[in-house]
Amino acid sequence: MRAVVFEKWKTPPTVSEVDKPTPGPGEVLLKVAGAGACHSDVAVYQDYDESMGMTQLEPSYILGHETSGWIEELGEGVTGLAKGDAFLVYGPIGCGHCAPCSRGQDTYCENVADMPYMASGLGRDGGMAEYMTVPARNLVPLGDADPYAAAPLADAGLTPYHAIKLSLPKLAGGGKTALVIGLGGLGLVAVQILKAITGATVIATDMKPEAMARAEEFGAVTVPGGEGQADRIRELTGGKGVTAVFDFVGVAPTIALAASVVARQGRLTVVGIAGGEFAWNFFKVPYEVDFTSTYWGTIEELHEVAALYRAGQISPDVEYYEMDDALEAYRKLEAGELSGRAVVTPNGRAA
Ligand code: NAD
Ligand code: ZN
Repeated sequence: MRAVVFEKWKTPPTVSEVDKPTPGPGEVLLKVAGAGACHSDVAVYQDYDESMGMTQLEPSYILGHETSGWIEELGEGVTGLAKGDAFLVYGPIGCGHCAPCSRGQDTYCENVADMPYMASGLGRDGGMAEYMTVPARNLVPLGDADPYAAAPLADAGLTPYHAIKLSLPKLAGGGKTALVIGLGGLGLVAVQILKAITGATVIATDMKPEAMARAEEFGAVTVPGGEGQADRIRELTGGKGVTAVFDFVGVAPTIALAASVVARQGRLTVVGIAGGEFAWNFFKVPYEVDFTSTYWGTIEELHEVAALYRAGQISPDVEYYEMDDALEAYRKLEAGELSGRAVVTPNGRAA
């Protein structure tokens, strides 16, 4: 079968012919419907190397950590699942029995140091292939909903959902505001999730006018970058500042913007992994602001994201690519030329 393989540090992936995998005990073989290209993949193959000590991400393996597909075959001991049914793949794979894994939060597995990989598509073969193997507990049912457009939900949906859910205590009640910085794969779904599960006024910003136009269609009020941006955002909050800020870029200027507009006792979540620095001091952010980062989400939350999708309340914007064009999808992602998410469909796409 064909797959997008990350072969060497600091080297773009290639489309290669590899063996079709066999599901082990407790696993299923999934026929892939869609595999989203995430900006984190670019960081992994472009920026990381052995000096960073990320041994679990060491190549070679098949990329693709946001995947959907249909069960093709059940491995030994798997019961209660049926061939042909459609699922999302929860990517992170922990030990499965520590406290965080027991609550479905494999992202924070306590035995992570003993695991050979971080997730499907991050150290273990992922979904940019015709087939992949997945532990049965990592499958989240899609029912009758379109499995192709669903693929990005596994990360571009789950990551903002987790960040927003943790901010709900702040966003509950009337007169609350949320700011989304960066309206790409994650940010555009974040706007939809905020509209679906909170009553907050959603403010959004991006460098790209077309991304802001899309956010407006999803119900956000947009503010372009440049001179006066922070003042304009504050104005939209009635001068109080933003209740919950979500930074999906994470460079120094976006974190600085976030810190300059967040409200007293608000919350600022940095989701983008660009590594921008911010020199905190007592006077630089308003009193009692929760300033935090976040990483992916839980299996239970992915069930909740799937429920929003199945109810028609959220739907990622996608551009489809055949396997032949998978590398073009990554090139466009690197160049910032995508609107929404690039989804590779390794088995083609039924009309
Ligand atoms: P993307 O490339 O699809 O979108 C990024 C968006 O940010 C683009 O629309 C771009 O125009 C905009 N942007 C860039 N610089 C900006 C700036 N200075 N001001 C305003 N807008 C700006 O990327 P994505 O796949 O949505 O990922 C977003 C970030 O989240 C990446 O850093 C990615 O690695 C990270 N990420 C983090 C997690 C996590 O668990 N923390 C999970 C997935 C992705
Ligand atoms: Zn664990």
